Amino acid sequence: MKCWHCEQEARAACTFCGRFVCKDHAAGMPAILAMYLGENNTPKAVVVANAIWCAVCEPQPEPIAMPELY
Ligand SMILES: [Zn+2]
Ligand SMILES: [Zn+2]
Repeated sequence: MKCWHCEQEARAACTFCGRFVCKDHAAGMPAILAMYLGENNTPKAVVVANAIWCAVCEPQPEPIAMPELY
C-alpha cells in the first residue's frame, strides 16, 4: 500500500478515514476514542492527542445530525 500523497510506502493509516500515509505526510490530530459519563454525570472523553491524520479528510468536532435519513 502506498501513501495517499506520494509514492512512498505507507507507514500508517489515518485514524478517521483509513487512507494510508507515509511518515512524511502523516499529520497529528486529537481523536476521541470513547465518551462516557463521569462523576456528577459530567460527560468525559478519552482523547488521543496525536492520532495519525491523513491531512485530507475533515473530522468534524461534533456528530452531524442527519434527519434526512429518517
Ligand atoms: Zn507521502
Ligand atoms: Zn483521513
